[in-house]
Amino acid sequence: MTDLTHLTIADALKSLTAKEITATELTQAHIDKPDIYNAYITKTSEQALEQAKESDARYQNGTAKALDGIPLGIKDLFCTKGVRTTAASKILENFVPPYESTVTQKLLESGSVFLGKTNLDEFGMGSSNTNSAYGKVINPWRSSTTPNIEYVPGGSSGGSATIVASGLAMGATGTDTGGSIRQPAGFCGIVGIKPTYGRCSRYGVIAYASSLDQAGVFARTVEDSALLLHAIAGHDPKDSTSATQPLPDFTKSLTGDIRGLKVGIPKEYRLKDMPEEIQKIWDQGAEWLKSAGAEIIDISLPHTKSALAAYYIIAPAEASSNLARYDGVRYGLRVEGKDLDDTYAKTRGAGFGDEVKRRIMTGTYVLSAGYYDAYYKKAQKVRRLIRDDFVSAYEQCDVILTPTSPSGAFPIGEKEDDPIKMYLNDVFTVPINIAGLPGISVPAGLDTKGLPLGLQLIGKAWDEETLFRTADIIEKAADFKGLTLNIRQAA
Ligand code: GLN
Repeated sequence: MTDLTHLTIADALKSLTAKEITATELTQAHIDKPDIYNAYITKTSEQALEQAKESDARYQNGTAKALDGIPLGIKDLFCTKGVRTTAASKILENFVPPYESTVTQKLLESGSVFLGKTNLDEFGMGSSNTNSAYGKVINPWRSSTTPNIEYVPGGSSGGSATIVASGLAMGATGTDTGGSIRQPAGFCGIVGIKPTYGRCSRYGVIAYASSLDQAGVFARTVEDSALLLHAIAGHDPKDSTSATQPLPDFTKSLTGDIRGLKVGIPKEYRLKDMPEEIQKIWDQGAEWLKSAGAEIIDISLPHTKSALAAYYIIAPAEASSNLARYDGVRYGLRVEGKDLDDTYAKTRGAGFGDEVKRRIMTGTYVLSAGYYDAYYKKAQKVRRLIRDDFVSAYEQCDVILTPTSPSGAFPIGEKEDDPIKMYLNDVFTVPINIAGLPGISVPAGLDTKGLPLGLQLIGKAWDEETLFRTADIIEKAADFKGLTLNIRQAA
């Protein structure tokens, strides 16, 4: 019998509809797999089995919905009614939201089953999933040359990427402020898409940097990611930044035809000290698209070099403001002090981790009276220039191809003592959030250590369809065999 945890979502839906399997069997198979990666913060197995039972009833009476019976993981940054939501922070250790985020509400309405809340970098701040108050996540991939070393899954949505890559779930939600979906998808050998800013509602998503945050999904195939994104996207009156743009059926864009498509290769992404294997996979990606009939065009995004600096001013600035709400008064942890100010200080001192504190300090600094113009305002000007770069580039091409990250996964512990090195990891992903554009990471091959490498496609605003269509071509050409390769299994 086929291993139910190896099915794609598309195939599982067919088998469920044909009544060859039940949602309960499918859910149980995923629950039975041990989480040896610390990928979940909270498991909701009992609730999942109840949801699966309801799903089976719908299959029986012919009322099954778009994702009925599909077991998913939810990044623990999405509020889930009645289910603890921590943002991987101690400050929200006992927070049980009284309401449901729009994205998870939509998934529930599509009939899917929630297996649990996945681990992340605290409040979404990080690139390694080592900044979690609930312990680090281990990349499910075992290196072929250094099998005893544990690698990071990427971050911040490391738990979500890990459960999908290892067969602990069929798909998962993520959020991406500067790369938190695409980079972990790349490190774990799966597909991850961050749609256009405004495509998905942020209602009920714990805020990190509101002008950059966007929800998205992880899946093992491009088709599955198209199915999931369709389920979570769409206008929401509860989020004034969610767009009224029509929502296409993304699976229809997988036509297999990219003849005449103009693919831009930005010269500024050719970093001086980039490992050769990254350049190689990038060239390979361009070659695959060319063989399928696309035209490869050299383009320039001249302000790329300023993107990281602008991001690490804008994101902490917004974070420092968003995180002001954790004051020990309204919700979450409270550590009593001698007066109100002391209570604030003690609560926040005890509740936030080091990286979050670093961001809050940077953020308040760049927003402070004497420095606002020099840092924050300047960064906003740079933001506009970066956005304009993309506008000009899209006069020449339809989609842009880059590596997802300047390296594959790195060992746990590396870059920990040097935040700047850690931030450099996001060099290829942050410009896309700054410009509000959609981006997808597709697994393209392995590095010299036998760990996955992803390629990133960047689209025009609202043109996720071209991303899916192009990603599908790369997926077929790469013929990447994720689950059956070097995945760490329970002993
Ligand atoms: N690594 C980036 C950061 O730490 C991006 C994180 C994210 O996209 N949430 O800010």
